[in-house]
Amino acid sequence: MWRIKRPDLDNSKCTKCHLCWLFCPEGVVRRGSRGEVWIVYEFCKGCGICAEVCAARAITMVREV
Ligand code: SF4
Ligand code: SF4
Repeated sequence: MWRIKRPDLDNSKCTKCHLCWLFCPEGVVRRGSRGEVWIVYEFCKGCGICAEVCAARAITMVREV
């Protein structure tokens, strides 16, 4: 695994604005039928853009263990 950090998404803080979905360059943020979002970690590159655009600070970049 070459990724140093991965985005940790706290759904209790998420306002379902979908900016992370819009800006993720890899298209690995997915949206559910109720507006919920989740990340497909298999293809996430750990760039941190989703965390940067999240005004609700629902996404935190954490080090891979
Ligand atoms: S940018 Fe943040 S608040 Fe908006 S959908 Fe993504 S995780 Fe939720
Ligand atoms: S860290 Fe980058 S690649 Fe991974 S979900 Fe966020 S924006 Fe997409």
